[in-house]
Amino acid sequence: MSKTLLKNSWIIDWINNPFFWSIEIDDKIIGNIYKEWEKIDESIYDEIIDIKKNIVCPGLINTHNHAWMFFFRGFASGLPLQEWLQEVWKIEDKLTSEDIYWWTMSSILEMIKAWTTTFADMYFFEDAVAEAVKETWIRASLSRWIIWNAPNWANSLKENIELFDKYNWAFDDRITVMIWPHAPYTCNLDFLKEVSSVAKSKNIPIHMHISETRKEAEDFLQENSKKIIEKLEEIGFLENHILAAHCVHLSEDEIKIIKNYNFFVVTNIESNLKLGSWIAPLKSMKENWICISIWTDWVCSNNNLEMWSAMRFTWYVQNWLHEDPTIFNSYELLKMATINWAKALRIDKKVGTLEKWKEADIIVVDIDTIHAKPIFNPIDHLSYGIHPDDIDTVFIQWKKVLEKWKFTFLDESKILSEMERCRKRLFS
Ligand SMILES: [Zn+2]
Repeated sequence: MSKTLLKNSWIIDWINNPFFWSIEIDDKIIGNIYKEWEKIDESIYDEIIDIKKNIVCPGLINTHNHAWMFFFRGFASGLPLQEWLQEVWKIEDKLTSEDIYWWTMSSILEMIKAWTTTFADMYFFEDAVAEAVKETWIRASLSRWIIWNAPNWANSLKENIELFDKYNWAFDDRITVMIWPHAPYTCNLDFLKEVSSVAKSKNIPIHMHISETRKEAEDFLQENSKKIIEKLEEIGFLENHILAAHCVHLSEDEIKIIKNYNFFVVTNIESNLKLGSWIAPLKSMKENWICISIWTDWVCSNNNLEMWSAMRFTWYVQNWLHEDPTIFNSYELLKMATINWAKALRIDKKVGTLEKWKEADIIVVDIDTIHAKPIFNPIDHLSYGIHPDDIDTVFIQWKKVLEKWKFTFLDESKILSEMERCRKRLFS
């Protein structure tokens, strides 16, 4: 077991919000964190790394993605959501496991360069995604795409459960598994009841797209005489641990309902703006103590996997919408990209903050740059002012994955050329 000391660093602890000077890593676990005035016996360490007064921060968590769709960046741009999805779904039948593997690998490279150490994923061929997770050392939460009445829908729930049995806490606990029914408009209520009962019996979290567009919310109300959340409560669906992506058109009544449940809102302003879906009522959610997290969505509806720009956009748009710059502060935005998501994924005992006994998913951010000077508040810099390439090093479970913008053990050019080979075959 090796013992390392990261010293001379600004370590951001989300709970007390001070800045520390040194952090100890025992093997892959965070040990003591020493304040600058505490005496440290450096002779007990196998390695001492000088952070040179840069920032040490927990790895970011991007908890809603469809990683393999990396190759769809820019595809069929400018269409309304449903028309655009139809274009995407036409291609799905031609996919192979090899395609998914290389595109997911490419997506993971982009995420790690965007300071992400955990992501949540949903689609097909999740065995190939699991393999990519294993190779790259990133942390992930996987699910099988479940759409009621799609050609293979009867098997999809079963396959999601098999995925859970096979991979939950696999690869040294870096993978967890959720059940992911696509949305209330693609899964009928009887099917959602079945999903709910399986999730309860096996204690599996559920991730679902909810209330992304006005049309979805209005159509549901017309067909069911109840709003989406009201109906989900009625059928017992909300008694699960729920991660709800989008939630753009939740009403005040629905927000009052979800506050009574284990309901985690995942918000994605860039995708919602790009597709013209509108803006999630985050101010009201915050006032009702709903746990909110930020994610990027896939590169088709956002065009990048940068958590920093997602954080900044979330802040700007809410300020603009309410004509009030005080709705969220930089510290809350960082929590939305770290510990809030760890809670939503139920991995907050392992990651999400830099605290003793947690695993060392750590990013080191270089602030010795023109655009980072001067520094009044480093958390403001992390949330609003840093550039993605200010990253210095990424550790996941204390394994060094990226250093000076270069991957330490992954061959970036090979991965991108394999991705391109598969893309050409699909479109030829
Ligand atoms: Zn999605």
